[in-house]
Amino acid sequence: MTCEQCSDWCVRYSIHHPRELRNAIQIAAQNIADKTLVEVVADPMLCSITFSELANGGAWDDFVEYHFRCLHCGEEFWLHAETYHGSGGYWEPRNFTSIRENISN
Ligand SMILES: [Zn+2]
Repeated sequence: MTCEQCSDWCVRYSIHHPRELRNAIQIAAQNIADKTLVEVVADPMLCSITFSELANGGAWDDFVEYHFRCLHCGEEFWLHAETYHGSGGYWEPRNFTSIRENISN
């Protein structure tokens, strides 16, 4: 289920390049600041730094995985990418039936 607040993010955005990952991080950070999304912190943490540290310019791990939830409807989103070999990853809704569009770069 999605809502008007998060429907713009219900896309599968492919990440192949560090600048695309940085872009996805910036967009997620803006939406957290806007109180559209909230980070779902895994326990134990999946990465060595928090998303807010990452969004503030922290170095990412060899494997990046962060989860988010829409504060309005509960839709969940994943940002995951393999950065070490550069094989990349995706920003995508957790529920694949919520994907409105595939965006590849
Ligand atoms: Zn929503």
